[in-house]
Amino acid sequence: MFDSYTENTLRLHTDRCINCRRCTEVCPHAVFAAGEDTVTIARPAACMECGACAGNCPVQAIEVESGVGCAWAMIGAALRGKDLDSGECSCGGDDSTCCGGGENR
Ligand code: SF4
Ligand code: SF4
Repeated sequence: MFDSYTENTLRLHTDRCINCRRCTEVCPHAVFAAGEDTVTIARPAACMECGACAGNCPVQAIEVESGVGCAWAMIGAALRGKDLDSGECSCGGDDSTCCGGGENR
């Protein structure tokens, strides 16, 4: 079964994090949680690799290879004029991890 925690590219470098919490504000899937000294990755499997967190981190504490996985499937579907909610997503995620399914909709 697809496991987006081990197969997605999201990485947090807590040694660089200055705890500004921008990532918690911009992430559409609440992947990050506020912590006392740094944020933590609270819902790793929910990451769809959109790249918003890395793009907004002021100290490059987040690495993610955007344009792959679910994000890629969403872009592809948009270009083809299809709707992911109709089951067009081919990323391999199940209802709890896929961009087109479960609570992440
Ligand atoms: S945006 Fe970067 S520096 Fe700010 S809390 Fe998130 S990981 Fe830390
Ligand atoms: S890449 Fe997108 S979905 Fe994944 S943690 Fe960052 S903002 Fe959230």
